[in-house]
Amino acid sequence: MHVEDVAAPQSMAEAIAFLKTHLNVVPWAGGTLLSTRNDRHDGDKPVSILDLDGIPELTVINRSDRYLELGSCVSLSAILSLPFILPLGPLRGAARLVGTATVRNLATIGGNLAARDSFMTCFAALACMDAAVEIRDAGGSRWISIHGLINDDDRPGFPATALLTRVRIPTLPWDSVAVCRLGELMRGEPCPATFVAAARFEKETISELRLLAAGLRIVRDRTLELSLVGKKLPLSARDIETAESSASYKAAQAGFGETRSRLYGHYVAVFLSGSQR
Ligand SMILES: Cc1cc2nc3c(=O)[nH]c(=O)nc-3n(C[C@H](O)[C@H](O)[C@H](O)COP(=O)(O)OP(=O)(O)OC[C@H]3O[C@@H](n4cnc5c(N)ncnc54)[C@H](O)[C@@H]3O)c2cc1C
Repeated sequence: MHVEDVAAPQSMAEAIAFLKTHLNVVPWAGGTLLSTRNDRHDGDKPVSILDLDGIPELTVINRSDRYLELGSCVSLSAILSLPFILPLGPLRGAARLVGTATVRNLATIGGNLAARDSFMTCFAALACMDAAVEIRDAGGSRWISIHGLINDDDRPGFPATALLTRVRIPTLPWDSVAVCRLGELMRGEPCPATFVAAARFEKETISELRLLAAGLRIVRDRTLELSLVGKKLPLSARDIETAESSASYKAAQAGFGETRSRLYGHYVAVFLSGSQR
C-alpha cells in the first residue's frame, strides 16, 4: 500500500471533510486486519489513511429497550465486557472467536463489518441477527440493514467512499444460538469461515430460525428456514436429514467447497437436533 497522506481527525465533521477532499481514502480503525492484510485497498494507486481512533462519538455504547447501539470503533473486548444479562445472541460467541485477547483489545466492530475481501466472524453473527448499520459519506448519513452490505453475488459490498459509524443490534433474546468456525482457513481468506445459527421457540414450535455460513461468500437459505418455521419440536429425523442436505447443497452452490459444504450441512443438523432438547 503506497500511503500519500494520513489524517487523525478528532470529530466526524473533520473525518467527512477529509473524505470529501481526498481520493482512495482507507479508514483505519484497530488496524488488526489492515496491518496483516491490505483488504483490497492495495493496487498501484496511492491511498490516504483516515485514522478513526481519535473520534469520541465512534466509541459510544447506547442501550434502549429493544436495541444495543455500538459506535463503530467499540472494540471486541469492550463487547465481551458488556453485562451477561444483555442478550447479545451469537455476537458474544463470534467476538470471542476473533484472534487473541491482545487482538480483540484493538479490533473494532466496524473494522469487522467493513472488511472488503471476506465476511468476518462478527458480520456472520450480526447478519443472523438482522442488525442495522449507519453509513456516513459526503452526501450525509443513512441507516441500512446489514444485508445491504452484501453484493448481488453474495460477496462483501461495503461502499468505497463511506464510513460505518454505528451498529444497531436488536436485543430480543434467542432461545438457542450456535457459532463456530467452519473448517480450516482457505486461500484468500483473512479468517476461517463461520457457521452461525439462532432460533426462537413458542409453545414447542420453531417461531424463528436463522442458519448462515459466511466466508468469501455468505449463504443463508431462507427457503429452508421458512420450511422449518412453524414445525413442532422435536423435528422428525426426515426433517433434519432434508435440512442437512439442503444446507450442504446451498453452500456447495455458493462455492464453499465439498468439505466445508458437508460440514455446514452437518452443523445445521446438529443445531436442529440439539435445539429439540
Ligand atoms: C492474529 C489475528 C487473528 C484474527 N482472527 C480473526 C478471526 O478469527 N475472525 C475475524 O473476523 N477476524 C480476525 N482477525 C482480523 C481482525 O482482527 C478483525 O476482523 C477486526 O475486527 C478488524 O477490526 P479493525 O478495527 O482492526 O479493522 P481495520 O484493520 O482497521 O480495518 C479493516 C477493514 O475495515 C475498514 N474499516 C475499518 N473501520 C471502518 C469504518 N468505521 N468505516 C468504514 N471502513 C472501515 C478498513 O478500511 C479495512 O478495510 C484476526 C487478526 C489477527 C491479527
